[in-house]
Amino acid sequence: MHLLVIEDDERLGRVLKRLLEEDRHVVDLAVDGETGLDLAEADGIDAVILDIGLPDISGLEVARRLRKRGTETAILMLTARDTVSDRVTGLDAGADDYLVKPFAYEELSARLRALARRAEPGPRRPEPRLEVGPIALDEAGRRVTVNGRPVDLSPREFSLLECFLRHPGQTLTRDQLLDQAWPYSVAVTPNAVDAYVHYLRTKLGDAGSRVETVRGVGYRLSDA
Ligand code: CA
Repeated sequence: MHLLVIEDDERLGRVLKRLLEEDRHVVDLAVDGETGLDLAEADGIDAVILDIGLPDISGLEVARRLRKRGTETAILMLTARDTVSDRVTGLDAGADDYLVKPFAYEELSARLRALARRAEPGPRRPEPRLEVGPIALDEAGRRVTVNGRPVDLSPREFSLLECFLRHPGQTLTRDQLLDQAWPYSVAVTPNAVDAYVHYLRTKLGDAGSRVETVRGVGYRLSDA
C-alpha cells in the first residue's frame, strides 16, 4: 500500500515508517496537519495513519477536512486516550478505524490489512458456510437458516451469530462480542449485548437455547 503517516512525534514517525517499509509499503511522513492534508490528497494514497495530537491542526480536523473535500482514502486514527467519547469523535470526524497508543506494531499492521480488504473493489471472497447443529449461516448471501428454514435477522443479530458460529463451544465475554460483532459501532455498550443475545435466542426458536449464559462472564454457543 501507499501510506501516509501524519505524526509529530518524530521518533515514533521514523519507527513506523521503517517498520511499514519493511512490510513492503511505500510510506510518506508528515509531522504536522497542514502538510499532512496536502500530501493526503495526492493521488494514490491508500491509507492515512493519523495522529490526533498534532502541533497545528488536530488529527480530528485533518480527518474532517479530508472527508469534507470528498477524499475517500482510508483513515486509521491514532489516539492517546481510550475513552468512548474520543473514539466517537474520531469516527465521527471520518476515521475508518482507530488505534490507542501505545499499540503493538502487529496490531497496526493487522488493522491496515483489514482496511485494505474493505477498500478492495470487486466481488468479496466467498466465505465458507458456518454451521453448528441446526444453525447455518451463509456469509456471502447474508442468510441464516435453522433446520433449513430461513431466519430473518437484523444486521447486528447476524454479526453476533456469526461471532458465535466462528467460536463454537467457546465462552465469549461481552467485550469480545462487542469488539468482534460490531467493531466500528462505538455507541453500543456491553449491556446492549445482553439485549441482542435475547433477540437472537428468540429468533432462533428451539435452537436459541444453544446460546448459553456463562454467569458473570458472557455467552457460549453450545456445539454439543
Ligand atoms: Ca502527537
